[in-house]
Amino acid sequence: MVKLHIGIDDTDSPEGMCTTYLGALLYREISKIAEPLDLPKLIRLNPNVPYKTRGNGAVAMSFDAKEEDIPKIKNLVLGIVKELSDFSHRNTNPGVVFIEGDIPEKLERFAYQAIWEHLDITDAENIAEELNAEIHKFRLGRGIIGALAAVGHPLKVFTYELLAYRTREFWGTGRKVNKESVFAVDHLTYPFTYDNVDLSKGSVLITPHGKDPVLVGIRGIDKNKVMWAFENIIFEEPIDFFQIYKTNQNTDDHLRFKKIAELKPLESAIVRGKVIKKYWEKGRHVFFEISDETGKLRVAAFEPTKGFRKYVRMLIEGDEIIAAGGVKEFNGVLTLNLEKFYPIKLAEKITYEKPKCPKCKGTMKSKGEYLKCKKCGYKMKKVLIPKRIPRDLKRKIYEVPPDARKHLSRPLTLPMAEDKILDVLKLKKVV
Ligand SMILES: [Zn+2]
Repeated sequence: MVKLHIGIDDTDSPEGMCTTYLGALLYREISKIAEPLDLPKLIRLNPNVPYKTRGNGAVAMSFDAKEEDIPKIKNLVLGIVKELSDFSHRNTNPGVVFIEGDIPEKLERFAYQAIWEHLDITDAENIAEELNAEIHKFRLGRGIIGALAAVGHPLKVFTYELLAYRTREFWGTGRKVNKESVFAVDHLTYPFTYDNVDLSKGSVLITPHGKDPVLVGIRGIDKNKVMWAFENIIFEEPIDFFQIYKTNQNTDDHLRFKKIAELKPLESAIVRGKVIKKYWEKGRHVFFEISDETGKLRVAAFEPTKGFRKYVRMLIEGDEIIAAGGVKEFNGVLTLNLEKFYPIKLAEKITYEKPKCPKCKGTMKSKGEYLKCKKCGYKMKKVLIPKRIPRDLKRKIYEVPPDARKHLSRPLTLPMAEDKILDVLKLKKVV
């Protein structure tokens, strides 16, 4: 028996198909001739790369196969990728990778590079050559980056997603899933399954909206609960088949601590800094500015983050915070697209008020350098009294709502969701 690892990426387009569908199909077929070593993996890569298709997810799977079956398996994979990839879209550039034996440790580092940085096809080609990985490129073959990364990702921390697929005649039509049943199932399985519904909006989140074959995606940290949820949701259209994936979704895989001066476009980062300019708005986006000892950074809560912006507006100059998000150029300025923030230390907010009239306790009116009582006319030199205003922000992590959240971002409802952000506090103080 030989261990065979297969990675596939970039077979889909914003208009259709889905790499997970192809992966699930292959996993079923290959499992008939070889022994799967685990569930298939769904690996989300750098969420900030510009040419990504919807979610920038790659799939990988591993089998124990008979030596003589390996050519058959490879042909099956290449055949299905060729047949089902959405070549109607110019940004679909599939890549397939085969690796035999143990997964080289170097590929793990490559996986994180593909999540943290912006890699080129040549980076993937170089490591494939070094590690003796067999790569197949279709068109530009950009998918080999994700395919290699998916094979290499160790998934030491992971969640599950059960993906159910529609029969072909329903592709492109509205998804028929009983809404009440989703709410009922959410009520019984949350937080072991999550992102099923948005309670504040009364909307269902498990159904995507595109022309792809996915009917629902049910996310969770407990495989049995995910399965139970699937079995108890009422579907009002046929299901072709389903597959549970192990995934790095909702693990904060993309975040790592950086100093402001180290930030580069298309990366994601956690930074620690002091608010040096409180919020201003442009369109419906809310911006503010922070600094650490290495530089200044513009931070943005964009319009789709909706109610999250309310908390961003509460930050004032002098607040110390931890901020996490993707780095991109927005209107020519390097900007952190905020996913979460944590107030470490809130500055004092002080207003200055006029005193009451010392004679009659009446209200005083400002008159240039003086204050004059509206009631008795008493006049005195203007002296204002400082008053501390209570701050509304708490020492907790604030996060964007589920429909604005990145696939990789860990929702606060999950265990260990604060770890990566709060670990920054253990680092040497940098503010
Ligand atoms: Zn008075």
